[in-house]
Amino acid sequence: MDVKGAITELDNIMDLYEAILKKKLPVKPQNKDFSSVAAKIEGEKAEDKTIQSMLSDIPDDFSQMDLNRLSNYVSTCTRCGLCKTRTNTVFGEGCSNRPKVMVIGEGPGEKEDLTGRPFVGLAGEYLDKWLKAIGLSRETNTYIANVVKCRPPQNRDPKDDEKEACKAFLYQQIALVMPSAILCVGKPASTLMTGKMDATMASLREKLFLFDSSIPMVCTYHPAAVLRNMELRRPVWEDLKRLSSIINPQIRG
Ligand code: SF4
Repeated sequence: MDVKGAITELDNIMDLYEAILKKKLPVKPQNKDFSSVAAKIEGEKAEDKTIQSMLSDIPDDFSQMDLNRLSNYVSTCTRCGLCKTRTNTVFGEGCSNRPKVMVIGEGPGEKEDLTGRPFVGLAGEYLDKWLKAIGLSRETNTYIANVVKCRPPQNRDPKDDEKEACKAFLYQQIALVMPSAILCVGKPASTLMTGKMDATMASLREKLFLFDSSIPMVCTYHPAAVLRNMELRRPVWEDLKRLSSIINPQIRG
């Protein structure tokens, strides 16, 4: 099956799920207290990854910044070598005030580097379909960001020193945005956010993590990886359903 056919097939499954979701959700979804949901989840606490310890990595003078000032600061950042080859920094976009979900990817690709927006290429379109299927969109209730804000050359994975240099910005974004749940897509984001640097993607996606002891966090494959290997569609769909059951507990089971 070619990529287009595979996307259509997954589209059909997602459309069906979206229809079920719309029937089961109240017409006007109420704000949920997700902390009580998190408290009921038997998840694995992400090791040593509290927001407080993350913020200790950020110099005081910009740990106090709001999202706009932080974005401006990042736009001129030279903390790692990726600044030399970027066209634009890609800070993040979407609902920035307590979104239901914050999606974290690894880094900008070519189109993202040119536009300054995250997940706008083919993989981004595919991600939007995933989100839509479980009642999410970057326009309304989802925030999207990456581990590194500058494009790694030839779309390679970000190196450890680059992730290390940039991670404080991501942590500060999480602290400011305050998402109710986190979806990590791809290994660089999943390993950084769980602190399990040597874990495989397959093992990470089997667990549910609690970030900062309170934010449910699901790890899954990157949309670009699924476009390259359609065998991954099924596990991704299982992960999305798990995330959906966390943010929409009324449809669980
Ligand atoms: S990737 Fe991050 S740390 Fe490196 S230059 Fe870009 S913004 Fe700065």
